[in-house]
Amino acid sequence: MEFEVKCSACSQSSPNLLYFKCPSCGQPLNAQLHLNFEVKKIRKKNYTVWRYAKFFPYVKETEIATSLGEGWTPLIEYSNNVYFKLENLNPTGSFKDRGSTTLISTLQMPIKKAGGYVAEDSSGNAGASMAAYAARAGLKAKIYVPENVSGPKFDQIKFYGAEVVKVFGTRSKIAEEAQKPEKGKYYVGHILHPLFRDGIRSLAYEMAEQLGWRVPERVYLPVSAGTLLLGVMEGFKHLVKSGVLESMPKIVACQTRQVSPLYHSLKALTYAPPETVTSIADALVSVNPPLLNLMLKDLRESDGDAVMVEEAEIFDAFMELAGKGFFVEPSSAVAFAAYKKQLKNNEISKEDMIVIVLTGTGLKTTLRPS
Ligand SMILES: [Zn+2]
Repeated sequence: MEFEVKCSACSQSSPNLLYFKCPSCGQPLNAQLHLNFEVKKIRKKNYTVWRYAKFFPYVKETEIATSLGEGWTPLIEYSNNVYFKLENLNPTGSFKDRGSTTLISTLQMPIKKAGGYVAEDSSGNAGASMAAYAARAGLKAKIYVPENVSGPKFDQIKFYGAEVVKVFGTRSKIAEEAQKPEKGKYYVGHILHPLFRDGIRSLAYEMAEQLGWRVPERVYLPVSAGTLLLGVMEGFKHLVKSGVLESMPKIVACQTRQVSPLYHSLKALTYAPPETVTSIADALVSVNPPLLNLMLKDLRESDGDAVMVEEAEIFDAFMELAGKGFFVEPSSAVAFAAYKKQLKNNEISKEDMIVIVLTGTGLKTTLRPS
C-alpha cells in the first residue's frame, strides 16, 4: 500500500477518502505515505505541483486535470542567503491552491457521481481557492465565511460562482455551520480534510529542489489553523526519511500576539485570546485551532521554534516588503516580521540560509495607503 489515511489519535484507517474526521473517535485524520521520495521520479518538464505527481499516488493521472497551474512558484534571493518563496503568485493568490488541487482532483468524481456539491469554511483565501478549483472541476461550491470577511476576498469567491454564506460568530461557529448536514453537501473544509493538508507537502519539495537539495537553517511560516505548518513539516520529514535531505530545517511558526495559541503552548505560557480578532493579519484567525496538538507534537519532535510579533512589527514588515516591490498580504508579512525579530535578538546569524514563505498576495488587502 503506497498511501493510507489514518486517525491521528486512535490510528484507525479511514475507509473513505471523503471523510474529514475519524469515524470512530472524531479526531483529525492524517494522510500517510508509504513510498520514498526519489529525485528521478520528478516530472521535470511539469512546472506545477504535479511535477511531484508520483508522490501523490491517490490522484489518478487522468484526474490531474483539476489544475490551474498552481505551485512551482519562484524562490528568489532577497538578500545574502535570505530567500523568499513567492506563494502569492499562485493562481488564486495564496498557497492554498496546493491543497485545493490535490483535494478537488481526488474527490471531484465521487462527489459528481453522487450529484453533490462541496462545502468549505474559510476566512477568505481558502474559500477563494476552493471556489476556483470547484469551478474548474465543474462542481458547485458553498463557502461559509465570517461576516467581517475582507471585501476583495468575498468578491473573488463570488466571481468564481460559489454560493457564499456569511456567518456571525467565532471561527469555530463558522466551521460548525459549514459541517451541518444538508442534502448533497460534502464538507471538504481545508483545515480538517487530510487531502487538503497533504497537498501542502509539495511546498517543501519545491523549496528543497529549488535550493539544489540543500537544507536551509530556518524556514519561516505564518501559522493560524496549521495546514501550512503541518504540510511543510510533512514534506521535509518525507525528504529526510527518504534520504534526499540530511536533516530537517528548523521550522519557525510565526504568529500575531492576538492569535498565538501555538506560540504560547510551545513556550508553556498561558494564552488569553481576544474577544474579537482585529489584527491587520486578517488571514490568521484561529484562536482555538483543532490541529493544535498535532502542530505542537510535530514542532517539538522536529526541534522547531515559534515567534510572536506585535501589530506594529507586522505593519512595518508589510511596508518594508512593499517598499522593496513585494506586495504581499499583511498575514504573510508576519513571517518576515518574525525573521527580523530573531535577527535583531541575535537568535540567528546573518550567515544562516533562511527561507521566508510569502503566503498570499497584497492585492486582496483592505489596508489603504496613507
Ligand atoms: Zn480515531
